[in-house]
Amino acid sequence: MKRLQTHRKLGALVVAATLLGLVVVAGYFVVEAFEERDAADHAADLQVAALNVSAMTLNGANDSALEGGVGWAWIAELRSDPTNALHSLSVDEAAATVSELDTIANHGEMLLRGEPVARSGHRHEELQGFLAEAVERSADDAVLARRQAYGAVGTVLAVMIAFCIGMLRRRYRRQAVVAGQQAQAHEGKRLQRLLNDSPDIFLVIDPAGRSTYESASAARLLRDESNADRLVDRLLARASERDRDRLGKHLGAPSVAGETAVFQLTDLEGNSGWFNIRVSDLTADDLVAGHLITVSEISREVELQNELRTQAETDHLTDLPNRRTLDSSLEVAAELARTSASLAAFAILDLDGFKEINDSLGHQAGDEILMKATQRLATALQGADILLRLGGDEFGVIMIGVSSADEALGRSRHLLSVFDEPFQVQNHRLELLRASVGVAVADPADSGEDLVIHADIAMYQAKRTGGSTAVVFESFMEDEASANASVTRALRSADYDEEFHLVFQPIVDATSREVASLEALLRWESPLLGRVGPDVFIPLAEKAGEICRIGGWVLHAVCAQLSHWMQSGLDDSVTVSFNVSARQLSDDRFVSEVLSTAKAWDIPPGRLVIEVTESSVIEDDGVATGRLSELRAAGFKVSIDDFGSGYSNLGQLLHVPLDNIKVDRSLLLTLSDMRDAMGGDPTMACSVMEAVVSIAGVLGAPVVAEGVETEDQLASLAASGITYIQGYYTGRPMEPEQAAELLKLAGDARPSGLPIDRLAA
Ligand code: C2E
Ligand code: CA
Ligand code: CA
Repeated sequence: MKRLQTHRKLGALVVAATLLGLVVVAGYFVVEAFEERDAADHAADLQVAALNVSAMTLNGANDSALEGGVGWAWIAELRSDPTNALHSLSVDEAAATVSELDTIANHGEMLLRGEPVARSGHRHEELQGFLAEAVERSADDAVLARRQAYGAVGTVLAVMIAFCIGMLRRRYRRQAVVAGQQAQAHEGKRLQRLLNDSPDIFLVIDPAGRSTYESASAARLLRDESNADRLVDRLLARASERDRDRLGKHLGAPSVAGETAVFQLTDLEGNSGWFNIRVSDLTADDLVAGHLITVSEISREVELQNELRTQAETDHLTDLPNRRTLDSSLEVAAELARTSASLAAFAILDLDGFKEINDSLGHQAGDEILMKATQRLATALQGADILLRLGGDEFGVIMIGVSSADEALGRSRHLLSVFDEPFQVQNHRLELLRASVGVAVADPADSGEDLVIHADIAMYQAKRTGGSTAVVFESFMEDEASANASVTRALRSADYDEEFHLVFQPIVDATSREVASLEALLRWESPLLGRVGPDVFIPLAEKAGEICRIGGWVLHAVCAQLSHWMQSGLDDSVTVSFNVSARQLSDDRFVSEVLSTAKAWDIPPGRLVIEVTESSVIEDDGVATGRLSELRAAGFKVSIDDFGSGYSNLGQLLHVPLDNIKVDRSLLLTLSDMRDAMGGDPTMACSVMEAVVSIAGVLGAPVVAEGVETEDQLASLAASGITYIQGYYTGRPMEPEQAAELLKLAGDARPSGLPIDRLAA
């Protein structure tokens, strides 16, 4: 510091001395310049005097008078070298010459005034000529001298200013360099201190693998060794055996951006922790010239993350891992399937009828069931199987090491067996709580996500077949599922008025064969999928929540058509029936919708028959039957459709409000099988049908037989006391035009305009 100050003082002295020197030089030049200027001024004075002489001589001044003045010799010099002549005079001499010349001039003037003067001949003219020349030249010289003087002063000043600026700039530059060096040294020290204080470890290895820098914090992790070549080995020694290879690769593959990865390392005191290791390639950086390895401990963060993950990944009711863990567990399972001989499978188990129990016994009972089911399922797991709660009443089981689809099915059935024993919940003995299982065996090409989708598809298949069963996924199910998805999509975007229309199938009197009624059946012509049958799209519409909207459209279309036919002279006794889904019956607006639509079209309620399936009234909790009673009270008729297709018996229909029963086609087929089995003897089959008819008779309901395709069938049904027949034999579902023909109606068969317009109006 002291040296620096001395340097500075010396510098200042040199600058001051130089400046002083410059001022002296400049002063000299200035004085010179001014002297020259004075000389020039005097020369000018002389010129004035010379002019006077000239004037005087012109006016005939006496030569002798002139000779007595400055002298001809000088005038001769003035003539040959006027600059020198003028300049050769000192200031004093010049002044003397001027006064002399003045005297001559006065003298001349005096002569002028005193007496007439003769011309002094050619000498005077000559004198006049060179004097004029001299005057001119010396005037030029004076200007030049002045310019030279000012130029010299200007140059000296410019040099001085440039010199000063140069000096100052150099000085400032040097100061900046010094300050930069000082700051760098300071920053270096500061960084060193920070690095030493940082818990992060900084290591640098040169391209030859030698350690060139190790921060103080490295002492915690790396043994101090004189052999700088072993830095990487020393670091690898701290990694667990499992991580060592990975760490070796990580250290060997630095990037300019810095590659990071997390490793578990054990420090020299034996404490294990999690470290984020970053390796940056700074070989191109002159200051580092190597690979920078930064080791930062993140044990606390990992711990917190783990804590959070366990919290987020645990189901609080059952303490089972939840759906969030599914992806990672399944990836492990799928990886196992790829790399080991044993397969992995994933099963989804869904409780059957849990929602109803939950609704009737309350959520607390529901929770209790879920906990008990968890306990039982846990006992049914095999080997390393993992049980998860996927949500609601849905469980997942990752089955590890299954050898075949059959084994997966066996394990699934074993899971189902835990539901054989009734559950005891809040004084209720739940005999009927069962579950359905869908299981998918991992294919090497499958991802974990595929496995879940497949298990889900299989589970729905199990539910469709009535539940309480296990189904193994097969690829055709997926095709079906994706086809269903496209139907549902097309249905959601369908323009009903454009794409839907109704056909009508006659229901005839079994004896007279007169048309007693027409069943309206919905047809869908999708612009995307072509014609789609109601067997396909109605169940999907029910699932997709579209059925109420569709049902509303059907109701309007039926009323519009019936109203039109009535105007065309349809017989008063002919009714029109239409199908209503269980989902529509459970809708609060159903009754009012039927009432208002019939009213809007002026349809007497007695001409409309509501067909509801056997299952929708038998599985009913009283709501559907209540609504049907309400509608019957208003005059509408109710028909129980598809009787005999389920497991119900007529006894269960005792409390259901109905006007007729439609025996399902499947029953008819069973009866013909029965007859075939009896060697063609129809007695047995007839007596079953007779039994149905007589019980229906107790309920006061006539029976309609569906799916009648032959005269034989018709004859034997008529013999059993069946009142009405519906089937291809007596009439296929037909377009309104054909139906109108059949009914012998006049005029157009179809109502004009869209049925929905009527209500809107
Ligand atoms: P469904 O109510 O039992 O209707 C009778 C079905 O049996 C009709 O099939 C009809 O074409 C068919 N069928 C009639 N006679 C015979 C026969 O002799 N042999 C054979 N093999 N079949 C016969 P479709 O039209 O395909 O309707 C199927 C089901 O779709 C209907 O069964 C009904 O449950 C449902 N459906 C149709 N239209 C509607 C509707 O507008 N709303 C609702 N919710 N469901 C409807
Ligand atoms: Ca029907
Ligand atoms: Ca039916």
